[in-house]
Amino acid sequence: MLKEARFYEPRKNSAVKCMLCPHECLINESKNGICLIRKNIKGKLFQTAYGELSSFAIDPIEKKPLYHFHPSSSILSIGTNGCNFRCDFCQNWHISTLQTPRQEASPAELAEKAKEAGCVGIAFTYNEPLIWYEFVSDCAAEFKKQGLKNVIVSNGYINQSPLKELIPLIDAANIDLKGFTESFYKDVTGGLEPVKNTIKTLYISEVLVEVTNLVIPDRNDNEQDFDAMCGWLASISRDIPLHLSAYFPAYKSKERPTDPETIINMKKIAEKHLNYVYAGNLRHEKNDSFCPHCKALLVKRNGYKVESYLKTNRCTECGKQLYFCV
Ligand code: SF4
Repeated sequence: MLKEARFYEPRKNSAVKCMLCPHECLINESKNGICLIRKNIKGKLFQTAYGELSSFAIDPIEKKPLYHFHPSSSILSIGTNGCNFRCDFCQNWHISTLQTPRQEASPAELAEKAKEAGCVGIAFTYNEPLIWYEFVSDCAAEFKKQGLKNVIVSNGYINQSPLKELIPLIDAANIDLKGFTESFYKDVTGGLEPVKNTIKTLYISEVLVEVTNLVIPDRNDNEQDFDAMCGWLASISRDIPLHLSAYFPAYKSKERPTDPETIINMKKIAEKHLNYVYAGNLRHEKNDSFCPHCKALLVKRNGYKVESYLKTNRCTECGKQLYFCV
């Protein structure tokens, strides 16, 4: 469904400039932006997938991954098509390159489904949700009105002004920090600084933010860069949870899968800086959460089987305030 886009400016000869993400695409008439779902039609920019879902599921919130936001709850998860990055290792490439069909749904219908299923709220995920801005903000407003929560799972590549307008509707976010060099971000057609700014802005705005880093052999597993990344996250807060994820070949990428030893080693490096570090997709790695002050067990996890001992965001043993939302 078409909906006139927000955050664009007219240019000469019926072209438009999209100001939603840092690509700031200059789009000629009848053409799409890099993200594939924002199109110039007769000198106006339109969102072309408004209310159109490529994917719909009810997932454990831990699958997003979010480990510190309503542990052991389920969340309605939706996405559309398109992406403003071009990762050759994309695990959802059918979705991001527009190869999947879409079905329509309204914000009210989705809120009803979430309530029926006993979900805590909705996660905008699977493809990059921020390029779906108009639908995400309308849907998030409906969910908020109905007392439900809103989560984004994003690459964080958005301009600050649209991000700041969206933030009052967002309760939690998982941001993919793909690496810590501009050259790695250049490979995926993005940029590191805007992603860092997104993480910082979300944290300062009191959105519960967790970060995921997919570790790819020989591409972003340099220990010095990784140490700098963790140090930078800790400069915002030692409490930001970091999810390390082992890579498996997908789409056009040919690198070998990440050695589990690499993830375990990187986890040790990260733990020098951060209070909560998880190795999400390593089968034998424990991913329990402990109080950073008294080391009491807070949440026990075995895959998606989750037992939370938290009744509030204070440690059940020492009473210290924790970076959790329960
Ligand atoms: S949101 Fe899409 S159209 Fe807009 S600047 Fe980014 S990639 Fe280009």
